[in-house]
Amino acid sequence: MMKKTTIVSCPQCKKEVPWANDSPYRPFCSERCKLIDLGQWATESYRIPLSESNSEDESSHQA
Ligand SMILES: [Zn+2]
Repeated sequence: MMKKTTIVSCPQCKKEVPWANDSPYRPFCSERCKLIDLGQWATESYRIPLSESNSEDESSHQA
């Protein structure tokens, strides 16, 4: 049984990470890179809900 391991690049530091059970943070190489990426994602999406509730109020007000 020759199972070829898939190699992915860490989105943060571009380091090669084997897509396997012993890489719990894949596609990231480490917990640190994962937290950095999630932190950026959370910061950006934080602003979206604010304008979303706004537009809902706006559409009922327009028409
Ligand atoms: Zn990394």
